[in-house]
Amino acid sequence: MNDRIDLAGMTSAEISAWCQEQGLPSFRGSQIFKSIHQGLCFGEMTNLPLSLREKLCQLAVDQPTTVRSWRESKLDGTVKFLFSLSDGQCVEGVLMRYVFGLTLCISTQVGCRMGCRFCASTLEGLVRNLTAGEMLGEILAVNRWISRKSSLSEAEEQSGPVPEHISRVVLMGSGEPLDNYEQVLRFLHLLREEAGVHISLRNVSLSTCGLVPKMIRFADESLPVTLCVSLHAPNDSIRKKMMPIAETYSIQELLNACRIYIRKTGRRIIFEYALTEGLNAGESHAEELARRLRGMQCHVNLIPLNSVPERGMAGVSEETVRRFLQVLKRCHISATRRREMGDDIEGACGQLRRKTLAESSASSGTSFGSV
Ligand code: SAH
Repeated sequence: MNDRIDLAGMTSAEISAWCQEQGLPSFRGSQIFKSIHQGLCFGEMTNLPLSLREKLCQLAVDQPTTVRSWRESKLDGTVKFLFSLSDGQCVEGVLMRYVFGLTLCISTQVGCRMGCRFCASTLEGLVRNLTAGEMLGEILAVNRWISRKSSLSEAEEQSGPVPEHISRVVLMGSGEPLDNYEQVLRFLHLLREEAGVHISLRNVSLSTCGLVPKMIRFADESLPVTLCVSLHAPNDSIRKKMMPIAETYSIQELLNACRIYIRKTGRRIIFEYALTEGLNAGESHAEELARRLRGMQCHVNLIPLNSVPERGMAGVSEETVRRFLQVLKRCHISATRRREMGDDIEGACGQLRRKTLAESSASSGTSFGSV
């Protein structure tokens, strides 16, 4: 990042304080905050005097995150975005359309240092953390993309529905959110501000590979965020084959942290479990998992592992998923097979990586765009 101030990462009160320091009336702070959250760039903030707009352009980062290109799935309308950050780095995000609204899966780091053996996002290690402003910027950029798209289609059709905005956010793109704790927390607080994008934290899910001390700290924040935990194995020896973090924290320690989270927030934990051929997908594994989770307020999300060619690990058949699910249900563990979105655009779990969309455009039949 350069040394410009990151207004997108600041609360309305912080921007007002900054305005005062600059000798500006503090009400400019709430105007600027509101305009940023509406997705406007400084030049478009016509409720501000021209001199202030120019000053903002000089001193502050304008739109820290922008859409560089996108690919839309022909299967389910899922859109994968490549975002540019102000230092030229790129991250990806995925827009999913559900009946209950638009959900954006955002990245929290450029790359990742957790080293999970099956995940594409970690192949090149961690490059850097995203700032809160950049994370918020992923939402703002997509909201702007949606409005632009719907105004274009309105022009064609002469009418059209009011454009929707993102109402749910999942922190499941590249990066480990709890490894970027301060900025992620700041981002979560920004979401809640009424004059801003105003997304309830009940509509936010955060996925972690299991950084136990950070999970306990996060529980103490008492936020109504749904915590998703990438468990992927019923015991430590299998988990160690999949995730280096299992060398540091045992499943028992992990589940204790989950219990603390449930107690402090009253929210159930979602366990993610990627079924991997020959490793964790047998019926005996399902029984072992059920024994470990018995009595816990939780839900298990099963997905067949998405293959990442470099990793040499493969997913399982639908029949294997069905059998695994059946065992869990028989043992009274709430579980579902997760619906996968954006399979044809490499937008599915663990497929987000740092390559540019141009590099990954080999698959055909998807619409591809750039700005
Ligand atoms: N670092 C966080 C969030 C990012 S990954 C975490 O580990 O939870 C989001 C989810 O996708 C995680 O559950 C992750 O384990 C899963 N995932 C990664 N690679 C995958 C793959 N190849 N197939 C299926 N799920 C995968």
